Amino acid sequence: MNFDLSEENLQVKSMAASFAQNEIAAKIKEYEKEGRFPREILRKMADVGMFGATFPEKYGGSELGFLNLAIIAEEISKAHPALGYAFNMQAMTCPFTILNWGTEEQIEKYVSRLIKTELIGMFALTESGGGSDAAGSMKTTARLEGDEYVINGSKTFITFADQADVGILFAKTDVNAGHRGISAFIIETDRPGYTAKPIEISSLGKMMQSCEVFFEDYRIPKENLLGKEGEGFKIAMNALDYGRLTVPARLVGIAQGCVDESIRYAKERVVGGKPIGEYQMIKQKIAVMVVETEAARLLTYRSAYLKDKGEAATRESSYSKYFASEVAVKAARYALEIFGGNGITDEYPIMKYVNYANMLHFGEGSANIQRILIADDALGWKNANRHNIKQRFPLAR
Ligand SMILES: Cc1cc2nc3c(=O)[nH]c(=O)nc-3n(C[C@H](O)[C@H](O)[C@H](O)COP(=O)(O)OP(=O)(O)OC[C@H]3O[C@@H](n4cnc5c(N)ncnc54)[C@H](O)[C@@H]3O)c2cc1C
Repeated sequence: MNFDLSEENLQVKSMAASFAQNEIAAKIKEYEKEGRFPREILRKMADVGMFGATFPEKYGGSELGFLNLAIIAEEISKAHPALGYAFNMQAMTCPFTILNWGTEEQIEKYVSRLIKTELIGMFALTESGGGSDAAGSMKTTARLEGDEYVINGSKTFITFADQADVGILFAKTDVNAGHRGISAFIIETDRPGYTAKPIEISSLGKMMQSCEVFFEDYRIPKENLLGKEGEGFKIAMNALDYGRLTVPARLVGIAQGCVDESIRYAKERVVGGKPIGEYQMIKQKIAVMVVETEAARLLTYRSAYLKDKGEAATRESSYSKYFASEVAVKAARYALEIFGGNGITDEYPIMKYVNYANMLHFGEGSANIQRILIADDALGWKNANRHNIKQRFPLAR
């Protein structure tokens, strides 16, 4: 067993950290203030190859693999958790799902343009009836009419739906077949019948928004079906499996941000004649944050390592998603306690960490859902590894 990061991993980490500092942390405030989508920053991230880490070179990728992907996600999310969201979408959820399930034509048409940010992507699964029961709550339908699918229905909380050019959409092609009636589609947002309406979430700001999305007799060519009819649920679960690599990495980034900021502040802030870091109850919090963040990172790296070997690592990804979400929420709460009143001002990033840690705690499979999967797997009652589908283009080296 080797716990060392390779020379390449260290180089990627250092590149991502300095990019995050110089191009994100230093510039993001103006986008936040104006509530403007940070397209220029995303383009720069694409230019240095960040979104292509897990893609083959022939589609414009850099073949750096999943561990490097996790390392980049952590650094980006630490600099600004909202950019971690964009990273997830452009580097993983949207293009990687197309890579894994698309035809050669679909891959050629969309993947390299997504990882270059010529196209902005989205992933439209959740409906208002409950994200935790994506299949049971799905009312959106797709009906084949000649050479086109006609889509009707609505989705909610779809991030970037107001900015996206393309997306993966899940809809029922057979309303009587339960989750086997769900199909996946690659949609283009410039077609008639598509409307995205941002949802007010003041805690996350207006820079990157999640939206309600409405489909009214929205038509796409039948070639835009992703995978086969009825494979949509499998595709969604497989996509979430991969998301459960980048989401924990982003949560580790948030937790590490809390650790770094808290350590700096605990040394600087003098109360009662000494730096607050000298008080035992502050030390206790810092100790817990440091150790738990490192433990979450190790779990995350392990699932990345297994994915780099070509394994699905569904179980390990659940472990890391669950644990990292608990750790990040706790670290954010501790950081807030350490900062006191200053923590809730915009001068410091603590509230951003609090809000995004809380959001990611339930996003892409809530902590409860992870607990259910993990416990059922441990009890041997259900196969939590049931979506154990190998990636079609393993980058294992
Ligand atoms: C800012 C933001 C961005 C998002 N972006 C996207 C996106 O881009 N695309 C997308 O498709 N979705 C997106 N989502 C949706 C997100 O994935 C869902 O919020 C998540 O899946 C949880 O679903 P829900 O919010 O409907 O909660 P619910 O499913 O209503 O669950 C509510 C609570 O009940 C618990 N619960 C539910 N079922 C069980 C059970 N069987 N046992 C025990 N507890 C249970 C849950 O753990 C949770 O605590 C986003 C959400 C937010 C807030």
